[in-house]
Amino acid sequence: MIAFISDLHANMPAIEAVFADIDSLGTVDRIYCLGDVIGYGPQPVEALEMTIDRCSLILMGNHEAAVVGGAYGFREQARRAIEWTREAIRENVKGPRGKRLWDLLRNLPSKHHFGDVLLVHGSPRDPVMEYVLESDLWEGADPRKMPEIFSLIDRLCFVGHTHRPGVFTEDLCFLPAKDLLDGYDISDGQKYLINVGSVGQPRDDDPRACYCLFSGDAVYFRRVEYDIEATASLVRANPHLGARLAERLAKGQ
Ligand code: ZN
Repeated sequence: MIAFISDLHANMPAIEAVFADIDSLGTVDRIYCLGDVIGYGPQPVEALEMTIDRCSLILMGNHEAAVVGGAYGFREQARRAIEWTREAIRENVKGPRGKRLWDLLRNLPSKHHFGDVLLVHGSPRDPVMEYVLESDLWEGADPRKMPEIFSLIDRLCFVGHTHRPGVFTEDLCFLPAKDLLDGYDISDGQKYLINVGSVGQPRDDDPRACYCLFSGDAVYFRRVEYDIEATASLVRANPHLGARLAERLAKGQ
């Protein structure tokens, strides 16, 4: 079994709870991280070091790209969090430990293939930045977007980025993770784009940490309780992060 995690966002209580859940299953032999280990959250260095330690792969997320290359196109709150994150990594972690983290961040791959499975943070068209949302299936959306995205998928594509877990089907339906409590069979040869959800800042109205298991034939979304208040109080205490980022954790939005 493979575990996919994404959008950890420097939330250590959530990250530790998810790794403990993975360990408790005893069936996971690889963990792949689809990006955004950092950004928004209060413990970026700890989050990076634990993720490096536990994962076979970490992809470049838009927050890593912004930390190493500049926070263009971000809203004020996210931009301030990114700038603080860059300082926390560059200034507070000196010597070889800091250099190792910085080199790793700059050189994260933006996509990874194994067999007919593609892994990206955002979308197959634009692996780091593009969002694939339920609203892309709605009336009035760009009719070329989803067919173009599916044309770039051999069979399966796992993504993060939106913090909204679920399965996009080739005939353009979205099945939210909350409707797939017994898992979802993907062994029929159709193409699927699977959003694995967010460990550290879920936005599907369920505040529990989310990640996804893949058996080869099916996907299973896991929700894990963690100490939200422990993270929220660290966020509130950090003037560069702020109260709104703390509040949204408890709401799952
Ligand atoms: Zn994210």
